[in-house]
Amino acid sequence: MAEHDCEVLIVGGGPTGITLGLFLQDAGVATIIAEKEQDIYPLPRGAHIDHEIVRILQNVGVADAVMATSKTGGRYEFLTADRQILLSFDWTEPGASGWPYSNMIHQPSLEAALRKRLAAVHGARLHAQWAFQSMEHDDGGVTARFATPDGEETIRARYIVGADGARSPVREAAGIAIDDLGFDEPWLVVDTIVHDPSRLPDRNLQICDPARPTTCVMMGNGRHRWEFMIKPGETSEDVLDDRFIANLLKPWNVEGAVSLERKAVYHFYARLAKQWRKGPVLLAGDAAHQMPPFAGQGMCSGMRDAANLWWKLAEVIQGGADDRLLDAYQAEREPNVRGIVDMAILMGRTVCVTDPAAAAERDAAMLADRAAGRSPDAQAGYPPISAGRILGGSAGAGAYFPQPWSNDEPALRLDDGTGAGAVLFSRGGTPPAGNSGVRVMDLADPAIAFARSALEGWLVRHDADAVLVRPDHYVFGSGDPARLIAAWQP
Ligand SMILES: Cc1cc2nc3c(=O)[nH]c(=O)nc-3n(C[C@H](O)[C@H](O)[C@H](O)COP(=O)(O)OP(=O)(O)OC[C@H]3O[C@@H](n4cnc5c(N)ncnc54)[C@H](O)[C@@H]3O)c2cc1C
Repeated sequence: MAEHDCEVLIVGGGPTGITLGLFLQDAGVATIIAEKEQDIYPLPRGAHIDHEIVRILQNVGVADAVMATSKTGGRYEFLTADRQILLSFDWTEPGASGWPYSNMIHQPSLEAALRKRLAAVHGARLHAQWAFQSMEHDDGGVTARFATPDGEETIRARYIVGADGARSPVREAAGIAIDDLGFDEPWLVVDTIVHDPSRLPDRNLQICDPARPTTCVMMGNGRHRWEFMIKPGETSEDVLDDRFIANLLKPWNVEGAVSLERKAVYHFYARLAKQWRKGPVLLAGDAAHQMPPFAGQGMCSGMRDAANLWWKLAEVIQGGADDRLLDAYQAEREPNVRGIVDMAILMGRTVCVTDPAAAAERDAAMLADRAAGRSPDAQAGYPPISAGRILGGSAGAGAYFPQPWSNDEPALRLDDGTGAGAVLFSRGGTPPAGNSGVRVMDLADPAIAFARSALEGWLVRHDADAVLVRPDHYVFGSGDPARLIAAWQP
């Protein structure tokens, strides 16, 4: 390490960067996070996280803090202008991760919980007001230059992760191009503080009204959000005027029930970076992908990136794995993100119709589909992993592995019984783990007694004696326990 200031330099202290930093610190990988601002980004952004993300937050030690300020999402409906149901997603059941399927949050509160945890973790280093300027890389790593309040500083690291948002100066400096997927819609976003929740909708709504497509969603921490599509001819200045916003809110009859907190104009884009890794440079979060917010998945996707990437970096840096393992990052994550971006675009195209004739046609087709039971509104699934570090051909490889939980108070959850890292659950004997880094657990292990029947059920369904689960809770493979351990070796 003498040649380096740290093993991994993360540029950007948003939700992706801090989550990745927490994972790496917990794994003992020397990490520095450099963030250009002093404080958390203050404007309205994420309002929703799904159940898998709460499990990620659990793994970095902040699920309870975030859940204390969040609200269960429940139903998500797309309605016609006269309030007929076009789509109705029932997100009331718990997800496979052991947490509520859909959770309404306040992004700055979530980020504050992550930063508080980072400050408490031994050795964590967040350099605030360090703005990335440029970098050079060679065989030994990367040297990055920062503008700081004390002048220019440099950091030398083995790897640099650009978690620096949509504009990503790191992506730019690495010369990585971005694909524009052809979605660009301007919207006004309005966050309010709630004084009387009884006067607000108890579900999340997309009002597919061609006169003014509108989103109305719950948030955590005593807030509620509206988003309004901006019409041609309206300027940012027009729509950010408080009287204009009061007029937009009038049909919702919420005067006195809410007060305006924050407002912002955004262009919603869909874009994917062509390369998520170039030598020692990796991209994560909005730096690698952007999507319109209709599926509530932008930040979620960045946090999935962090969960996918940390253990690969740790295996290469600490476990002697070949550095080509990092190529599996994009191979695994990009199809998942593309699936989610496509869903977000589809939802966006459904909502953002302003031509009355086209809207009438859309309504007629979707209402007919719904009447015929063809509406695609079951629980949204997130695409499994189909390439990369999985044992192809074995049952369940690449699938998301559930987290059984107990109904005790407080609930026990599988990951709390296993700890971080790869785990082998076996009902066919426990082979020695050797130097594989895998934790081998017999189903009779008292630490996971509450999960035994669920784990056994998984193995029976997949006709396997054992399953090896990766640190990000995707299945590496199933089958004979000794064979799985051997196949996992770096
Ligand atoms: C209106 C709206 C609603 C949304 N709703 C949802 C939702 O419901 N659910 C969801 O999951 N997502 C949602 N999103 C998306 C979500 O907000 C983003 O995907 C998420 O913030 C991306 O996190 P990130 O850490 O990758 O990037 P960012 O949050 O953008 O963080 C990047 C960080 O990098 C820093 N940085 C930039 N340049 C430099 C530099 N030169 N040097 C050092 N640091 C730098 C920035 O200051 C910033 O702190 C929404 C977004 C919008 C706009």
